[in-house]
Amino acid sequence: MRFDIITIFPEIFQGALGSGILRRAALAGLVEIRVVNLRDFAADKHRSVDDRPYGGGEGMVFTPGPLFAAVEYCRGPVKTPESRVVLMTPQGRTWSQQFAESFSKLPHVVLICGRYEGIDQRVIDSLVEEEISIGDYVLTGGEIPALAVLDSVIRLLPGALGNSDSAVNESFSSGALDFPQYTRPAEFRGMAVPEVLLSGDHARIREWRRQQAEARTGSRRPDLAAGTRAGEA
Ligand code: SAM
Repeated sequence: MRFDIITIFPEIFQGALGSGILRRAALAGLVEIRVVNLRDFAADKHRSVDDRPYGGGEGMVFTPGPLFAAVEYCRGPVKTPESRVVLMTPQGRTWSQQFAESFSKLPHVVLICGRYEGIDQRVIDSLVEEEISIGDYVLTGGEIPALAVLDSVIRLLPGALGNSDSAVNESFSSGALDFPQYTRPAEFRGMAVPEVLLSGDHARIREWRRQQAEARTGSRRPDLAAGTRAGEA
């Protein structure tokens, strides 16, 4: 799978992409990630990519020229079924585990990170195929949302996680939250690990975990328990 990220702050990605599972996945060739500096596509010597909004108002807006050139550089001059061009925006469809699963099957995703007041609508109308929000709050830029998309998709790629089961048995993958986890020591500051987990009885452990997951989901996320999660496809 291939990701292109269009941003005016490429340095934001270095730490996250150079650590842990994301780094390992790239080194193993499971994913290829290219961070593209939007300013490299500016037409003037100041490398400008934004301007004041027509009609007045606060802030700046990304101009269409550099964005058209950057997207065409990433995916080629015409739309293809192999490439999905995505804008990170609080106005988009809410990102979810199901959304991440569907993206993990795509060959190529181009993520556009906005800044300031956003981007010229003509870019959205002509180039953007999907608008994604990571939640109902406003961040200063699309880089953190893009990292959330990258991380949640890459860990689903076959071979990315050490134990391939670990992406299957966790929160949201089965429509429920995960059960509580414990590790050594068996007692810590007077708090004991539930006896069933030390019993070695795998059928009892499975049933205890199922009940815990169900109870948690019911009390914390009744929308998930009822199968009515907002934003679900
Ligand atoms: N004026 C825009 C609006 O009200 O919809 C908000 C612009 S925001 C300050 C700047 C950029 O951050 C956006 O263009 C988008 O790329 C990104 N962004 C902010 N919040 C986001 C969210 N919840 N999900 C995805 N992207 C977000």
